[in-house]
Amino acid sequence: MRLLSTCNAFTSSLSYTSTMETYTSHFTRLVCPECGNPFDATVLQTFCHDCMSPILAEYDLERLGEKLTPAELRSRPKGLWRWSELLPVQQAQYRLTLGEGDTPLLAAPHLGASIGLKNLYIKDESSNPTATFKARGLVMAVARAVELGVEEFVIPTAGNAGGALAAYAAAAGKASHVYMPQDAPNINQVEVRALGADLQLVEGLITDAGRLAGQARDEHGWFDVSTFKEPYRAEGKKTMGLELAEDFDYELPDVVVYPTGGGTGLVGMWKAFDELEKLGWIGSQRPRMVSVQAAGCAPIVRAFETGAERAEPWEDAHTHASGLRVPVAFADRLILRALRESQGTAVAVRDEDIRAAEAEMAQKTGIFAAPEGAATWAAAKHLFGGGWIDPDARVVLFNTGSGLKYI
Ligand SMILES: *Cc1c(COP(=O)(O)O)cnc(C)c1O
Ligand SMILES: [Zn+2]
Repeated sequence: MRLLSTCNAFTSSLSYTSTMETYTSHFTRLVCPECGNPFDATVLQTFCHDCMSPILAEYDLERLGEKLTPAELRSRPKGLWRWSELLPVQQAQYRLTLGEGDTPLLAAPHLGASIGLKNLYIKDESSNPTATFKARGLVMAVARAVELGVEEFVIPTAGNAGGALAAYAAAAGKASHVYMPQDAPNINQVEVRALGADLQLVEGLITDAGRLAGQARDEHGWFDVSTFKEPYRAEGKKTMGLELAEDFDYELPDVVVYPTGGGTGLVGMWKAFDELEKLGWIGSQRPRMVSVQAAGCAPIVRAFETGAERAEPWEDAHTHASGLRVPVAFADRLILRALRESQGTAVAVRDEDIRAAEAEMAQKTGIFAAPEGAATWAAAKHLFGGGWIDPDARVVLFNTGSGLKYI
């Protein structure tokens, strides 16, 4: 008999329940996608220094596919840890939570109808802790690192990742250090300080913050949870792809439009679809994946258009969509491969078009989106206008955060 749920996971920060104890992670190993070398998954890892590439987690999906069913997953208490078999944390008491995941997939009929799109949806990530989807990645990176003994964290951030790290470090009772451009939105600075993290404001961009955070890491022995410099933020973001599949009853949508900075969500979702196929829950059909960037910082779009395997650093990056102000994506190869394998594309949108999209989206859906989220609407309009999206296509825009974080 299945244990009845007693999960009241959101009332305490380090909570675990009799239900969650029954979830067994099927994590097996870490592998570099470039050279294929394995990495010991039982100790802390960073990335493949030979290839300068992220490393990715693998699971025993064959065995899991014989035991777990979509119906069982649906019946579990809400939250990202429903997917624990497909996540790296081993012991239930390390499955930290502030209530992340299981965000709503919302139909957007008025917004869609305004241009003739019949099946437009928004996966609204703004209800996550700290009001952006960064929570999904950071809960996983922090939980697994704490399980492996980490006491002190460091992160360079355009803003939102710093808030999410500060929150989960606080929840875990650990220290954190956040390196952020001094012109990052004020609320990001207020939030990080309020959550008790050590905030270091940096002249320049996230890349400059990354350099200083790296020096401090080497000096103090802190654990660095920069985008893709450790393997587990992508595992947390992967849950967006798992939820999306479930939201659509395991018939994946036709187009997914995603605002891309470091690309964790895009790579994570692409990986999720692969794992679901290996579990036997979906077929080989995939959404066409669309990367949206700001015209003032579009390294992935430029590389996609020129057919390059790697993205060159973007000079003089600027945009008010601060989460997209990322001139260098460490996972550029993985992002570009996912776009190409999916028959997807990459689109750059101007800040003035993002601003117009913010107002339209808010007034025609009731969702006050982050500029990064609104950028997906600007891109969808462009692609629909050019005939790249059909009127009948099931299109999902990712609103990655709340507009309230940008006031
Ligand atoms: C970080 C961020 C992004 C970009 O996400 P990546 O996974 O790094 O590509 C988009 N939107 C918001 C609100 C963000 O904070
Ligand atoms: Zn390698």
